[in-house]
Amino acid sequence: MPVTTKLSLTDNLPLTCSRSGTCCHGKMVNLNPWELACLAEAKEMPPRQFRDQYCESGGIRLRFDGRPGWKGLPACSLYRPDFGCSAHPGRPLVCRLYPLGRQKQNEEQFYIYQGHEFPCLEGCPEVDGLPRMTVADYITGQAVRSFEAAQDEYLEVMQNLADGAFVLLLESGLAESDDRKTLRLWRQMGSEEPQQLAQRLGNRWIDRLMLPDPADSIADPVSFSRRHYDLLLSEAEESFGTMEDLPAYSEASGLMMGLALHLGRGLGTDPSELAEHWINTAKKHGARD
Ligand code: SF4
Repeated sequence: MPVTTKLSLTDNLPLTCSRSGTCCHGKMVNLNPWELACLAEAKEMPPRQFRDQYCESGGIRLRFDGRPGWKGLPACSLYRPDFGCSAHPGRPLVCRLYPLGRQKQNEEQFYIYQGHEFPCLEGCPEVDGLPRMTVADYITGQAVRSFEAAQDEYLEVMQNLADGAFVLLLESGLAESDDRKTLRLWRQMGSEEPQQLAQRLGNRWIDRLMLPDPADSIADPVSFSRRHYDLLLSEAEESFGTMEDLPAYSEASGLMMGLALHLGRGLGTDPSELAEHWINTAKKHGARD
C-alpha cells in the first residue's frame, strides 16, 4: 500500500539565513516524535515539558503564538525577536529544508519547490546579496541526514500502525459481519482537525505516540523510532489482547488508524487523503462503508 508523502512548510512556512525570521512567522510546523525529542534536548528540558510549553495537538505541531512580526503574522513559539530560532541545533526537517520541500514516492525522494516566487526574496531581500550555492550544497549545509532517516523510519511506523488497523478489521470477522462503522470512523478521523483527533485518541495514547520513553537517546533516529514502535505494539497487544466481541475490534481498529493518521500529519501527509486511500484498500479486501 504505497503512500506518497510531501513534507514542506505550509503557509498559514524557516530559515536561519536571516535574523529577520520572516519564514518563522505565520506557518505550520508539524513534528514527528524524534524531532520533538531533538527540540526538547536543544531547549534542555524533558520532552513532556517541551511539548506542553511549545506544541499543540498533543505535540504533533509547534504553536505559532509568538509575538506578531513579519506581515503582522504570529511567530513560532520558539522564535525570539533579534535572535531567531531559540532551538536552532534541534530545528526540524521542514525548517532545515525551507524553502524547499521533500517528496517521497515509493523509494524515490525529490526536493521540490512549490510556488512561483521565491519567498525569501520577498521576506528577506538581503538574501539576494548572499553567496549562490547549489541545492545539493544547501542541503548538505543543513545537516538533514538524520532528520530524513527519522522521517523515513516514522513513515514505516505509520504504515505499521495502519496495517494493525487493517488486521483488526479484516482478520477478526468484523469485515464479514457487514460492519460499516469502522471505515466511517476512519473517514471521520481523517477529516478531523489535529486537536480534535488528539482529543479523540486521549492523553494516554497521545503520550505514547509523541513521548516515547524519556530515557531513549536521540543519537540514532532509526533505533529510536524502532524502539518506539515496539513500545506502541506491546501497549496495543496488552490493551487489545482480551477482546471478545466485534465492537471491541472495531474500536481497536479505529484507535490504530487514528494513531497512524495523527502521526501521518506530523510527517507531512494529508490525513483525509490517507484515510481515503486506506478505506479504498480495505474495501478491495471486503470491508464496507
Ligand atoms: S522551529 Fe525554529 S526555525 Fe523552525 S519555525 Fe520555529 S523558530 Fe523558526
